Amino acid sequence: MNQTEDAVVAEPVNLMGLSEAKLIAFFESIGEKKFRATQVLKWIHQFGVIEFDEMSNISKVLREKLKKIAVIHPPHVIKQWDSVDGTRKFLIEVSGGNAVETVFIPDGERGTLCVSSQVGCSLDCSFCATGKQGFNRDLTCAEIIGQVWIAAKSFGQLAEKGPRKVTNVVMMGMGEPLLNFDNSVDAMNLMMHDNCYGLSKRRVTLSTSGVVPMLDKLGDYTDACLAISLHAPNDALRNELVPINKKYPIAMLLASAERYITGLPDNRRKITIEYTLIDHVNDRPEHAEELAVLLKDIPVKINLIPFNPFNLSNYKRVSNNALRRFQTILVEAGYTTTVRTTRGEDIDAACGQLAGAVNDKTRRSERYGLSGVVSEDVVKIMSHSS
Ligand code: SAH
Ligand code: SF4
Repeated sequence: MNQTEDAVVAEPVNLMGLSEAKLIAFFESIGEKKFRATQVLKWIHQFGVIEFDEMSNISKVLREKLKKIAVIHPPHVIKQWDSVDGTRKFLIEVSGGNAVETVFIPDGERGTLCVSSQVGCSLDCSFCATGKQGFNRDLTCAEIIGQVWIAAKSFGQLAEKGPRKVTNVVMMGMGEPLLNFDNSVDAMNLMMHDNCYGLSKRRVTLSTSGVVPMLDKLGDYTDACLAISLHAPNDALRNELVPINKKYPIAMLLASAERYITGLPDNRRKITIEYTLIDHVNDRPEHAEELAVLLKDIPVKINLIPFNPFNLSNYKRVSNNALRRFQTILVEAGYTTTVRTTRGEDIDAACGQLAGAVNDKTRRSERYGLSGVVSEDVVKIMSHSS
């Protein structure tokens, strides 16, 4: 083969990360009927099959053709930890010496998977371990949906057609999903697709710290649930905790969130407001009262998250008294207010503690001292694998 021919040989397409529309376009581009897309979607995401030869309703000729131009590659699991409380954490390799974390949290009949959308995060919220690690890159759609595939497969939910363990997905792992818009949306739509994981739109939630221009577009692409990481009842305090607030302040963010939620066809849905409670920072009764006024005309439910400490942070977890007082004020003001219980503490799997391994491009991690964020376990594993 000469050099010119070499140059036109395309990289095989990873079918793992193609939305239904992209998979249809792929099959049509190779002269095949679009129902092939449905067959392949089901093989990958319903039955967990990634070998073309096992796809029994696809002819041998087509299988051979596919093998030459396509692959089905889920990401590689470097390590899995199981907590005494049933929480399971995966460290998942993504290229370039990076790894992200995914956590499965069982709670009775419900099993929630907390999925990452980026390697690190560029937004640097003051209380978040992921933010301290800086940022490397967006995850591909294959890497995002691959986390669901890996978890479902690990519970025998796919090939063995076992009972569904992953009943809910929250985009609350590492990264800001609205800054990786196309891949996050494509992956969420695969989670909800009947031929894939078939999760109800009430059980897939995107969480954002407030990238308003992208939130304004979200409703054109998906109808998943929305959570807003608010953490403060006024701009002065929120500017300190969530720096993107300086660009898109609270009023702008809440207006955009309200447009999204009221624009959904089933207009009974509510925005989840996430509020991480940090001792003596945002946990005073005045903050709760201000929050109650701020949200009074918006369809919301409030989720209080006690701050989960990590090495490099001087913040402290809210006291139980302050937490109870805060919740009572909101409940008395008429809000449905839940408290997120910390799970998987023995395996560093709690909310905001996910750190993976980020080959930081922003040099932020140097400033903060990377080893303070990443668990020793991960440092060990990554230094062996690189
Ligand atoms: N970037 C998105 C999604 C990932 S963060 C967002 O910010 O919404 C998911 C949730 O974990 C957010 O509500 C975030 O504020 C919260 N969180 C981050 N660090 C935390 C910590 N140390 N303790 C408790 N919650 C934390
Ligand atoms: Fe990024 Fe969310 Fe962490 Fe803020 S809280 S740094 S947006 S991952």
